[in-house]
Amino acid sequence: MTTRKSAGAFGYRDILLALRRIGLEGDSRILVIGPSLIPETVRGGAAAISAALAASCKTVIAPAFTYQTMVYPAEGPPDNAVDYPEASAASVEADFFRPSLRVSPLLGPLPETLRRMEGAVRSGHPILSFTGIGAQEILESQSLNEPFAPIDALAKAGGDVVVLGSDPPANVALHLAEQRTGRKQFIRWALTPEGVMECPGFPGCSRGFGAIAEKLSGIVQRRKVGSFPVVRIPLRDLLNIAAGWIRQDPQAMLCANPDCPFCTAVRKAGRESDAGRG
Ligand SMILES: [Zn+2]
Repeated sequence: MTTRKSAGAFGYRDILLALRRIGLEGDSRILVIGPSLIPETVRGGAAAISAALAASCKTVIAPAFTYQTMVYPAEGPPDNAVDYPEASAASVEADFFRPSLRVSPLLGPLPETLRRMEGAVRSGHPILSFTGIGAQEILESQSLNEPFAPIDALAKAGGDVVVLGSDPPANVALHLAEQRTGRKQFIRWALTPEGVMECPGFPGCSRGFGAIAEKLSGIVQRRKVGSFPVVRIPLRDLLNIAAGWIRQDPQAMLCANPDCPFCTAVRKAGRESDAGRG
């Protein structure tokens, strides 16, 4: 039997090398985002990528969000980007949060693979949990009121965000930048074994996040393995640039959809706070 190497295929060692070339060393601490889909050219798939990340870094964390736990009351606070009657009717489909609950597939396959790795831990937020390796201390910083505290802790520790793949899910670090500037946040509810839990500090829409790319050219380290992009951005710089931009332009990184309930509510809250100041 002959085996033929498929064109452009790469595996663990190639990923490891690319991670080294973007500057990751054994003591690096990272938040990893993506990819949405793992190309067939990656030998070993998500497991190979996870193993390379764990071998390159002291700490790897990833969002392990579980949107499937979300439930809605029949009525609730206004300007909360919820159609209560409709959302509440759909709430019968919700799942109880538990540490073993599968990560939402909207985050791509990597976080679920990381969560299942030997030595992995997961924080206990019923919607916005994080998972990771070498991550116990970082993840302990999370609370119901401060869901993105692990990213803050990682930034303070000199960490980076590593974005993988050509069409990755949203860079959740930008949600922390939004919170730091006081941008409007939302309230969501989660089904837990202890009952329905109110979760404040829920972020808005991330569809406009791509606009930050042009402001990051000076701080981004980028390599490609085959056609697979591997990008490192220092977290502290990313957060400072994003927060600075939002302070300067309250519309920064909002999406272009005029019917987006999140971005509409953020714009409205901005106008109201302007009117309050004037
Ligand atoms: Zn939007």
